[in-house]
Amino acid sequence: MENVLVVGAGYMGSGIGQVCAQAGYRVQLMDVKAEALDKAMSELQWSLGKLGSKGLLKDSPQVVLERITPEHDLSSAATAQWIIEAAFESVDLKLEIFKELDRLASPETPLASNSSFIPPTRIAQATRHPERVLGLHFFGPVPLMRMVEVIKGEKTSPEVFEGGVAFVQSLGHTPIRVQKDIPGFALNRIFSAAFREAVDLVADGVATPEDIDAGMELGYGWNAGPFVIADNSGLDTQVLIGQTMVELGLEGFASRTDLIRQMVKEGRLGRKSGKGFYRYTPEGKRLPWGSDERQ
Ligand code: NAD
Repeated sequence: MENVLVVGAGYMGSGIGQVCAQAGYRVQLMDVKAEALDKAMSELQWSLGKLGSKGLLKDSPQVVLERITPEHDLSSAATAQWIIEAAFESVDLKLEIFKELDRLASPETPLASNSSFIPPTRIAQATRHPERVLGLHFFGPVPLMRMVEVIKGEKTSPEVFEGGVAFVQSLGHTPIRVQKDIPGFALNRIFSAAFREAVDLVADGVATPEDIDAGMELGYGWNAGPFVIADNSGLDTQVLIGQTMVELGLEGFASRTDLIRQMVKEGRLGRKSGKGFYRYTPEGKRLPWGSDERQ
């Protein structure tokens, strides 16, 4: 059984760890925050139980869960066959983590980042072996969104790139190859352009989030509108992504309004805090922000 180290046990890291364990990998799930690991392990138990009860797992939820070990440091990098980083979206943080991973992991071990926008070429600058660095951009919720962008950095070797494609397939997800390394890759450039416009329309009072989402779902066939997607992904993460865009010189992709930063200041982080563009009941039901049941 191969070992996968996942760095960061938040929304994305725990989902990535879950699909790796479901596919039979042994997973070391690492986070610097003990609370993040505790939360991830209890959510994994819940999610696996739910998938198991629907007959969607090959093995029992308990067997899958036992493949996942929470870790507080990066020492298991030395024995990992794959390493996937899913810590906060920050160039400096990712450079720091990759420098350490490069020191600890065997030179053959591929080092992948799940960054939303940062080119793997940039992240690889922290390493002595840029040929083993690539992007594996998963979509959340990872167990349900079964596609991954595989991003080739300028120095990523063809073996590591194709290895990334095969690894994604081994998880039962569908890879798409991003052959040229640009910030935001292929799909986030498309989503961010639409999301920036959607946020600015709401900020300008042109339409409500619910109406825009309904329009994109019914009019354009999206299976979820931009505000549903943003609430699921976390508005705090969207703020970090916005800062990263500016850092990477992509101001044009960022919203020109302060709406999301303001919402985050008010504790509206999306589904994770029970309120974002929508509000959520304790059972997870989504309701319009202004509906009567709000209080
Ligand atoms: P999150 O805030 O839910 O989780 C980030 C985790 O990283 C936290 O638990 C934090 O404690 C941990 N962390 C911080 N510093 C660390 C370190 N030095 N070592 C180990 N762990 C550390 O964020 P998320 O939504 O899971 O996003 C993680 C990454 O995935 C970001 O780069 C984000 O842009 C990207 N991404 C997010 C989404 C999404 O929908 N949220 C989708 C695709 C990609």
